[in-house]
Amino acid sequence: MEITPRIHSIPAPTAFYTGPQAPDVYLVVDGGEGALIDTGFGDEQSVKARLEYLRERPEVKLRYIVLTHHHFDHTSGAHQLRQASGAQIVMHRQEERFLRDWQSDAPQDIDIPADQKAIAERVQRFRQQAAEAAPDVFIEDGVTLRVGGLTLEVVHTPGHTMGSICIYIREERALFTGDTALGLGTVAISPPPHGDMRLYLESLERLKGYDTALMLPGHGQPVQDVPRKLQELIDHRHEREEQVLRLVADGKSSARAMLGTIYPELDRRIIPMALRQVEAHLAKLAEDGRVEGTPDGHDGEGEWRLRG
Ligand SMILES: [Zn+2]
Ligand SMILES: [Zn+2]
Repeated sequence: MEITPRIHSIPAPTAFYTGPQAPDVYLVVDGGEGALIDTGFGDEQSVKARLEYLRERPEVKLRYIVLTHHHFDHTSGAHQLRQASGAQIVMHRQEERFLRDWQSDAPQDIDIPADQKAIAERVQRFRQQAAEAAPDVFIEDGVTLRVGGLTLEVVHTPGHTMGSICIYIREERALFTGDTALGLGTVAISPPPHGDMRLYLESLERLKGYDTALMLPGHGQPVQDVPRKLQELIDHRHEREEQVLRLVADGKSSARAMLGTIYPELDRRIIPMALRQVEAHLAKLAEDGRVEGTPDGHDGEGEWRLRG
C-alpha cells in the first residue's frame, strides 16, 4: 500500500494482535533499491504477506532491514525476510543483548498473564525468532544509510527501549518513529534498565526539531500534523508526572498504591505494564531530585516520599 510513491506500508493478515495495535512494516523504495523499516511478526502468514509484497516488485533490490528496537512484534519476522532477500539487518548496538536473550524478563510491548499458557508459548516462539535476527550492521545516532537517492538518517531516541531509533528521510520530510511515538495512544515506558522516562521525554523534544510532514509510527496510522502529535505526547507525560507527584505528596508511597487513582478502569492484564510505567515516572522524579525512595520496577512495591 502506497503512502507516498517512495514509502509503502506492507500489511499482513491477523497474526497475533491486530487493529490499531498491529505492528506496522514499511518499505522505502527509490532507484531500484529498498529498505524495510521493521518486519512485524515471524509467523508464517505474516512473513508470507511481506514476502509477496516484495516479490510483486522484482525491480527493487532490498538492501536493509532496519529494526527500530528489539521488541518481538517488530523483529520476529526479520531473520526469515533476511534469508529470502539477502538484505542486511540493521540495529542499534544497545538493543542486541535484549534481542538475543529471548528468555530474559525484558518487558515487551504486551504482557502475557501467567495463566494464558497458549499465548505465552506463542510469545516465546516469537522471541526465539527475534533472537535469530542477529544484526549485520550496527548503527548509532547520526549514521546515514543510502537507499537509491534517499538518505535514511538514524536518530537515537532512547526511552521506550535504550537503543530505540527513529529514521528520518529529509527528501520526504518523513520520520519513522517505531514505538517512540505511536499513531494512537501512548506507549509503555519501563523504568531503568529497560527504559527511561527522562530520556524518553528528551527524545520526543529532539524529534520536534526535525522538519517533518509525515510521521510513520510503529503502530497505528501515519500522522500528518507531527509537531502537534509530539507535543501532545510530551504534555501527556508531564501531566502524568504531576499527578504522580501529587499522589506521593498525599502519602501514596508505592506505584501499586497509586494505580487505582491513575488508571481507574485498568484491565487486570495490563497491571504489570501500568506498574512499570508509574515506576518509570518515579525514577525520573528521583533523578530530578523531587522524590526519593527505593525503586521497584517489577511489582510496584517501591517506597517513595517527597524529597526535602
Ligand atoms: Zn511495538
Ligand atoms: Zn516496543
